Amino acid sequence: MLRIGTAGIPHSAKPRTSEGGLKRLAELGLTCMELEFVRSVQMGAKTAAKVGQVARELDIGLTVHAPYYVNLNSAEPEKIAASKERILKAARIGAVAGARSVTFHAAFYHEDDPEVVYERVRDGVWEMRRILDGEGNSIRLSPETTGSLSQFGTLEEIVRLSEEIPGVGPCIDFSHLFARSIGEFNTYEQFASALQLVRDKLGDEALQAMHIHLSGIAYGPKGERNHVLLEETELDYRAVLRALADFGVGGNLICESPVLEDDALILQEYYNDLHQNR
Ligand SMILES: [Zn+2]
Repeated sequence: MLRIGTAGIPHSAKPRTSEGGLKRLAELGLTCMELEFVRSVQMGAKTAAKVGQVARELDIGLTVHAPYYVNLNSAEPEKIAASKERILKAARIGAVAGARSVTFHAAFYHEDDPEVVYERVRDGVWEMRRILDGEGNSIRLSPETTGSLSQFGTLEEIVRLSEEIPGVGPCIDFSHLFARSIGEFNTYEQFASALQLVRDKLGDEALQAMHIHLSGIAYGPKGERNHVLLEETELDYRAVLRALADFGVGGNLICESPVLEDDALILQEYYNDLHQNR
């Protein structure tokens, strides 16, 4: 089963709290929410436990987005340490809420050889995995495919990390893959080949527990510019959903649209139609 929902609290939630957001999603017929800790992790353990309880009661799946201020390839060791701390903090609060997966943008390449960057990121992710395992925290670390050419995070890099490190899985942001390809990655066959890569390298179990981002997006010569409405994007999001349905993908699909739940509902409706017409 693929759950579809919003990146954070839906705009129409009242009150605009995580709990209010979960209730609103349930009313709308959406089934997952990402806790957006993109500036910093402000949620405390007590709130996280309550949010987790409400999510379980309403059967809403939870994922986490760690802060943006992360760079596992910084030239400054203290910035790498701070990056890991931010991801770990998001992972710890996420685990209290019962979230399955925490995503993050792992690094920037700067002027470095991508293979060297890969090794640095891999070492950093391994270290975080060991720390979380030591705490009995099994939340999945899910580095994200990123939207800008300056950022580490091609599909191949993310799948390779997932293959090498147990407890790591891909967060595939199809909008980012489209943007970083400057609009080239945009056909059913390409979306299907991405899912086939996951199946070949990580197995069918990985396809059953995917962490996915899908929204409208605008791009420039260096990749991602900003998220836009589904009706304004060149991204063939319907073909993405067809590929997801054809591969029997399960897990959580998060919509990061400027009109969060409105676009999530468009995705949900199209996805439901695909299933009914089978
Ligand atoms: Zn992201």
